[in-house]
Amino acid sequence: MFKIPQFPPLHFGSIYCIGRNYAEHIKEMKSTRTETPVVFLKPRCSLVLNNDSILLPEESANVHHEVELVLLIGKTCKNIKAKDALDAIKAIAVGIDVTARDIQSDAKKSGLPWTLAKGFNTFAPVGNFVTFGKEIDLQHIDISVTVNNEIRQQGNTRDMIFPVVEIISYLSGRFTLYPGDLIFTGTPEGVSQIKPGDKIEAQIGNNLSTLSADVKA
Ligand code: MG
Repeated sequence: MFKIPQFPPLHFGSIYCIGRNYAEHIKEMKSTRTETPVVFLKPRCSLVLNNDSILLPEESANVHHEVELVLLIGKTCKNIKAKDALDAIKAIAVGIDVTARDIQSDAKKSGLPWTLAKGFNTFAPVGNFVTFGKEIDLQHIDISVTVNNEIRQQGNTRDMIFPVVEIISYLSGRFTLYPGDLIFTGTPEGVSQIKPGDKIEAQIGNNLSTLSADVKA
């Protein structure tokens, strides 16, 4: 079914994700803090928009939500300095880094990539995009997700280990960022399993960007 594209007709590019960016989430995962951002990618097929469904793959018995602030890049940038990094952001949104935790755990044990755990179809749902302006303080944004109206994650971007400007600077030092690229900036603590029939509602700020998604097998 054809859907009218959201804000404005978008051509999305690469989907970069940052892992281990909140200390309490590192603790709950029994992971270790890193000196530099943990970077991984999701394929384009994982991206869905507000009111789409999250489809649970047969290959996993334990899929988790990770609510995150998502950045939409608005200009080509390479080697951008942190002090100039806000200029690269066109819009922000809430998103969920959906993760097949069992597959990721196996990959970690074997020292293998996370792509399979992170990249299934519909594993990167993103809410409505809000035009970014410098009046928005990206490091003081509330971020939360409910499952069936029960709060599961409630954090604030002030707790990021690597702030947004450092993430953009770090990524742009290694990859050329293009308009339409997305960056998932990491999740606070409280990740938990989602099941068929669940209704997920995520938001950043005071309904600045919201995301609704139902979960299907
Ligand atoms: Mg994540």
